[in-house]
Formats: sequence, C-alpha cells, structure tokens
Amino acid sequence: MKDKQYIVVVQCHIVKERCSAYLCEHAFAKRSGAFSKYPEASPIRYLSLTCGGCCGRAVHRKLSNLLKQIKKKENIDKDKIQVHLSSCISFDSYHGGVCPHKQYLKTLICEKLGLDCIEGSRISDLTEKRRQEGLYKND
Ligand code: SF4
Ligand code: SF4
Repeated sequence: MKDKQYIVVVQCHIVKERCSAYLCEHAFAKRSGAFSKYPEASPIRYLSLTCGGCCGRAVHRKLSNLLKQIKKKENIDKDKIQVHLSSCISFDSYHGGVCPHKQYLKTLICEKLGLDCIEGSRISDLTEKRRQEGLYKND
C-alpha cells in the first residue's frame, strides 16, 4: 500500500444511481475503513468509476483507458495503482447483497489487466453493527 500512487475505487453502477460516492471519498480523505493503511501524508491520488452496469464488463475498457493515459501523461505504471472494489460491491449491506459478478470483476481487473485489487472502501459503523447482529452476511 505504501508505494501506491493512485487509487481507483470501482463502484456499483446500480448503487451509484442514488449514491454520490462522497462517503467513499471522505473515508479515503480520512484514511478510514479500507483506506486506513495508506500513509496520511502521502500525496496519493484518487479516482472513482462505476463498473458500467451488469455484468461489469465495461470495467475492463475503463481501466484499460486509464492505464494507457496515465502511463502516457505521467509515466505511472500499473504496479503503482491500487484498485478497490467498493463496499457496496464487496459486502452484504443495505444496498443489497454482494455483487453477483464480483468474481468476474476480479478476473477482469486482476487476471486480464494485472492490477492489484482489494475488497472494500468506506466501512459504515451502522452496517458493521448490523453485520455483527447477523442482519447482513459476513462473507
Ligand atoms: S460504498 Fe457506500 S459510499 Fe461508497 S459507492 Fe458504495 S454506497 Fe456509495
Ligand atoms: S455487475 Fe455488480 S457492481 Fe456492477 S452493476 Fe451489476 S451488481 Fe453492481
């Protein structure tokens, strides 16, 4: 995490119809939730985009475009980029269950594009509490 220069948060296209994604960006700015391991003072940059809608295939061309342009403009290589699958994709929550195409998204991002990808972004205290109470599944 320490040597990453650029974070990309992939968000659920359906959830983003009603979510500005501000709380994900806020969590990143505060280095909380799944962003807690990034050094606070680091000038790491942040971009969010959606999967493009089910089945998520558009994420491949969106990230391919990013890889091409970021290399050309700033000479940033793919090993300096960390992709996060947003919490609303990765975990059971108020927004619905885990994305049914999560493994496919990971195949496109990790195997096809060779990018590092981890699950989670903003972690809501209320959702965590409900998870502990068994309202949402834990896997
Ligand atoms: S994790 Fe929460 S804040 Fe982030 S995109 Fe999903 S619903 Fe929005
Ligand atoms: S593929 Fe998954 S993340 Fe993308 S819109 Fe469908 S449910 Fe949401």
